[in-house]
Amino acid sequence: MNSPVTLKALERAMHNDELVLFYQPKVCLLSGEVIGAEALVRWAHGDASVLSPDEFLPMVESNGLLHDLTLQLLDQLVGAIVELRDSAPIRRNAPTGLLPPELSLSINVAPNDLASRSISNHIASLLQAGTIKAAELQIEITESAVMSNVDLVYDDLVRIKDLGVKVLMDDFGTGYSSIDRLSQLPFDALKLDQGMVKRMGTSLQNLDVVRSAISMARELGMTSVAEGIESESVYNFLIAHGCEEGQGYFLGRPMSLADFRAFVTTEHDFEGSQIGRVHQACLNLLRFRKTLVDAAFCSRVGEGVALQSVADPGLQSDVVSTRLGLWYFGIGQRLVSHPVFNEIEEPLRKVHGSGLKFLEELERHRSVAMLDQQLADIDQQVNRLISLLHSLERSILACKQNR
Ligand code: C2E
Ligand code: MG
Ligand code: MG
Repeated sequence: MNSPVTLKALERAMHNDELVLFYQPKVCLLSGEVIGAEALVRWAHGDASVLSPDEFLPMVESNGLLHDLTLQLLDQLVGAIVELRDSAPIRRNAPTGLLPPELSLSINVAPNDLASRSISNHIASLLQAGTIKAAELQIEITESAVMSNVDLVYDDLVRIKDLGVKVLMDDFGTGYSSIDRLSQLPFDALKLDQGMVKRMGTSLQNLDVVRSAISMARELGMTSVAEGIESESVYNFLIAHGCEEGQGYFLGRPMSLADFRAFVTTEHDFEGSQIGRVHQACLNLLRFRKTLVDAAFCSRVGEGVALQSVADPGLQSDVVSTRLGLWYFGIGQRLVSHPVFNEIEEPLRKVHGSGLKFLEELERHRSVAMLDQQLADIDQQVNRLISLLHSLERSILACKQNR
């Protein structure tokens, strides 16, 4: 039987390093590769039982010990990063030159950890000393903790992000943040709450909630991460809708560092697919066209809306930096074995160039009537690209069926 959790036992445990991190694998849903883990604290209790955070974190927090614990765990995490770096994970399906970045481990923090700046100072010195690289570390903080402490945490979140360390909003969907508020916060990723993910299978409405959360992340230029994936059907649905990363018992439970090291060096058969991402590429394209129409419409009716304000935030002068380009010239390149993929580049560059030219002409106050032919040409290019992307979707489907 477990001995009761007392403050004295807890302090002793912290002193004796009995609070240890377990690691739950995170998988890239586009490639099926293990890309890192979330570090979750456990108390390796004296009688060989392992206590979960719910059983002792409230006591840590109410006794003002959480900040010390976070610093202690951060050092443990850094040790794990260094150890895993040398364990050469197996990278499946990765053509030369397209190797994914190093494994990245995330740690959970509370608002007070950020308010004191000591965590960000510590991270800054680790990076400066070259002990870890920014891409190897991520920070998770829950939506509700952020939303009720925005003033307390904002500066440090920005500082951590500026250091190049990714900041993830945890348990997204439980804290009532508006899209407006979200867009003002410096998050790199939204972690969809596991309750939301689990309810997905219970009604069409719940399914739509997850779909919308993935779309919202995409619209805000953030990565979508799903937690609590417990079944293959949920896993496949998330892939189909373009969710980028996932975590859950279906992929792997939290485990000791030694087990996680063995996990990353073992080949897994997690299916990855870009089918949902290709659909998002179609949506990016339609959004691009809509930007042009909006620009023309708003300038024509003279509502005083500057062209920039209606322009797609993903609209960049260089096609490679657009949302669509980031996919096509990035992880999309893993689809080169599908012949139709290679047909996309030329029309993609063309439609982007034509779109920018259209906006330039508008700025020179050319009338929309004069530009009608130009827009019609762009529409033809958009239609051609969408048809190529649909062929690519079918080609990916055909490969899945042959698996
Ligand atoms: P979290 O950060 O949202 O972590 C995910 C929790 O869901 C973990 O519980 C994990 O074991 C559990 N989980 C993951 N996949 C599945 C699944 O497929 N099904 C089910 N039923 N559960 C799954 P855990 O480890 O008990 O942690 C609970 C919470 O405690 C964490 O939620 C986090 O908010 C907090 N926590 C954990 N470690 C730390 C820490 O080191 N520092 C701080 N400040 N908080 C921590
Ligand atoms: Mg977390
Ligand atoms: Mg969570």
